[in-house]
Amino acid sequence: MSSESLNLFEKAKKLIPGGVNSPVRAFRGVGGTPFFTKRADGCHLTTADDQELIDYVCTWGPAIHGHNHPMIHEAIANALKNGTSFGTPGPAEVEMAELIVEVVPSVEKVRMCNSGTEATMSCIRLARGFTGRSKIIKFAGCYHGHVDSLLVKAGSGALTLGNPDSAGIPPSFAQETIVLPFNDVDAVRHAFFEARDEIAAIIVEPYPANCGLILPQPGYLNSLREIATEYHAVLIFDEVMTGFRLGIGGVQEMTGVTPDLTAMGKIIGGGLPVGALGGKAEIMDHLAPLGPVYQAGTLSGNPLAMAAGIQSLRMLRDLSPYPALETSGSTLAAGIRSIAHDRGIPLQVPQAGSMLSLFFTEETVLNFEQALACKHDRFNSIFHHLLESGVYLPPSSYETCFISTAHEQPVIEQTLDKVNSAFSSI
Ligand SMILES: *Cc1c(COP(=O)(O)O)cnc(C)c1O
Repeated sequence: MSSESLNLFEKAKKLIPGGVNSPVRAFRGVGGTPFFTKRADGCHLTTADDQELIDYVCTWGPAIHGHNHPMIHEAIANALKNGTSFGTPGPAEVEMAELIVEVVPSVEKVRMCNSGTEATMSCIRLARGFTGRSKIIKFAGCYHGHVDSLLVKAGSGALTLGNPDSAGIPPSFAQETIVLPFNDVDAVRHAFFEARDEIAAIIVEPYPANCGLILPQPGYLNSLREIATEYHAVLIFDEVMTGFRLGIGGVQEMTGVTPDLTAMGKIIGGGLPVGALGGKAEIMDHLAPLGPVYQAGTLSGNPLAMAAGIQSLRMLRDLSPYPALETSGSTLAAGIRSIAHDRGIPLQVPQAGSMLSLFFTEETVLNFEQALACKHDRFNSIFHHLLESGVYLPPSSYETCFISTAHEQPVIEQTLDKVNSAFSSI
């Protein structure tokens, strides 16, 4: 690791806990020290040491058009002329709401906030306020931001009352969270059988992408919909990652399964901090000031963030880059699979559109337990080889790789050459 990033990291560690403002950036998963980025353009990052990297993190999802896209840049610059924050309603908020309602099938009304975490937190509160019930079901391995009651992992057994995953969360909070294995319909039925009148909501990443990429079994999401309807519980899709990425309308558009509430984030801000929650008007109208469920934000609907987000969503709607992104994703995934196969290295590369991940194992990964059991040291070794040769994968085997429209065919081929060299070294 060259010197400028190291110097910055040493200095940062004295001032910022662990030297980073979000933990996974610290490279704890893969070992070593993180590089610092001074510039991002298209599919490339330029590090503080002037190394150019092909970037498969894409700022953890938002940069679907590549970094620093000129149209988004221009939209922000234009909005900036009118000021940075109003503290009153602004026209861009109405335009953003119109766009979201137009493209996300289940959303009749929408409230803007500033992060994915705020969106999921408010979905949970709203579901509880709407149903008058307390408990929620989440699935092991699904990440919904750093909300107290959602930072809970699985214990053993089909119906597990949660244990906190983070210090600082009272066990009494965690007890309101039932953690179940993903892709297991019986576990959900059993949970409702045991606690039917207490469960306010099921929250799910419809394509879990925070413990590698796990694909739902055919019919699984439909079953969640049926069970939630049967027991009058709220079905929440956390589409912070998948929304606008797997299709303009997210997984709900792809699968035709309609949630009651949807949490959105990442791409919706075009690279600025934005989140949103939306859904049926009947439920959304329980939010203040119409209803009793309080939710607020000083900078929510910020005009610069709205300008970036609107531009980003418009380009997705009008240019529909999804078939091209699918081609890039499947070319990359197939290439990596064949490199591993030729060397006799067991590897699964689940892929959906512009998302894919690497599981070093023989079997298809259907849940969190299986993701945990993979050979993570292999991923770490590949990660470091690729980084040295100029390709940046997410610094943890539990993260998903993202492709943008700026990752054109030659870049994918260049990446596969480097993957080939990296695999020859393990
Ligand atoms: C990133 C993410 C969040 C949290 O969003 P932040 O903007 O980081 O708070 C929530 N849910 C999912 C599925 C995510 O991928």
